[in-house]
Amino acid sequence: METKVGKTKLSLIREDITQQDTEAIVNAANTTLLGGGGVDGAIHRAGGPSILEECKKIRARQGGCPTGKAVITRGGKLKAKYVIHTVGPIWSGGKRNEDTLLRNAYKNSLTLAKNKGIQSLSFPSISTGAYGFPTERAARIALSTIQDFLKRHTFEEVRFVLFSERDLKTYEEAWSDRYSWNVS
Ligand code: ADP
Repeated sequence: METKVGKTKLSLIREDITQQDTEAIVNAANTTLLGGGGVDGAIHRAGGPSILEECKKIRARQGGCPTGKAVITRGGKLKAKYVIHTVGPIWSGGKRNEDTLLRNAYKNSLTLAKNKGIQSLSFPSISTGAYGFPTERAARIALSTIQDFLKRHTFEEVRFVLFSERDLKTYEEAWSDRYSWNVS
């Protein structure tokens, strides 16, 4: 699916995020920034060891990355010039501020990209793998946060890269239901 939000192209595709040619890709990292499984492991494998080296320098400076925040490294061997590492919340039933923390992860990634002058970026579905956030709810939060951000800022493209057909469908349905969103 491809659409326009203001002047920005918004696309939802089923692919591997490590192969994207956007200027930046976003990593669903953890607070240690030391790499992990899922999309985090795939990005570090594909980008090579320089990404971890940069993450370690950030750790030495600021001691990891709190949930909802984002940091940036170069992309190593990736096509993407930069990797924005953000940390989504671990789902624990919805009473621990998970919605806001997920929203912050998207917002802070977009803000960091904008401040760096990045024109195009790809997101994975943050928190919906090992962290267990329900995908439908996450899709609504992700897309509404982006839509909101794009009211005030423009990119060439914001791309969502979903790993399964099912996730792609969930995000596409969330987008087509956007007029009934009731998220603040
Ligand atoms: P989290 O810990 O934030 O839940 P995960 O990496 O476990 O992060 O999962 C986040 C999402 O990323 C899941 O939907 C998973 O299927 C997806 N994913 C895993 N590998 C890739 C990849 N190479 N490209 C895009 N998405 C991926």
